[in-house]
Amino acid sequence: MQLLDIHTHRAKDDGNTHITDAGTGTAGNAPCSVGIHPWKISADWKEEFDKVAGIAASANVAAIGECGFDLIKSPATEEEQYRIFLLHAELSEATQKPLIIHLVKAQQLLLRAARELRHTQAWIIHGFRGKAQQAQQLLSAGMYLSLGEHFNATAARIIPAERLFVESDESTMPLPGIYARIAAARECSIEELAAQTATNALQCGLLNKH
Ligand SMILES: [Zn+2]
Repeated sequence: MQLLDIHTHRAKDDGNTHITDAGTGTAGNAPCSVGIHPWKISADWKEEFDKVAGIAASANVAAIGECGFDLIKSPATEEEQYRIFLLHAELSEATQKPLIIHLVKAQQLLLRAARELRHTQAWIIHGFRGKAQQAQQLLSAGMYLSLGEHFNATAARIIPAERLFVESDESTMPLPGIYARIAAARECSIEELAAQTATNALQCGLLNKH
């Protein structure tokens, strides 16, 4: 069974499909995403973003990101993070590729960006660990939620199947183990979960640009 991992920082060769975060550079021909992580916003972010924009249209770039907001760990100000996020969101619209979002303590900022931009591409909150109420708010705004090794079980149960993704991110747990955890929390089979994430990827154009 093929499993889809929509976001990882560890290149893997296990027969599954992984979208590896390549930061501001492409990683070979394998599916990847490109963007500036909010932890890595430097004084040179404009040049870095130009690099991202320069490679974003490449066939192996499946998504834009991860980008987003971190009000605890980012060296950039809130305003700067907002500005840089909007640039990524505009790039996602221009290239018609989904956006992979890092979100820590900034839900209102993200919702503000969603109202301001009126995006057509899927906005995927990666590594979602929030509670059900936060999940509900993001789902109401049309977002997708991606779960990894650690998640809130109540929140995991309320995500509609057609808005769910699975990822390994920094985890060392093999992907089938992560799928098993999420399937158990949602009381479905791993096969059902795998079929659903594959369908969702097709529907939001994550992998069909290849
Ligand atoms: Zn990540």
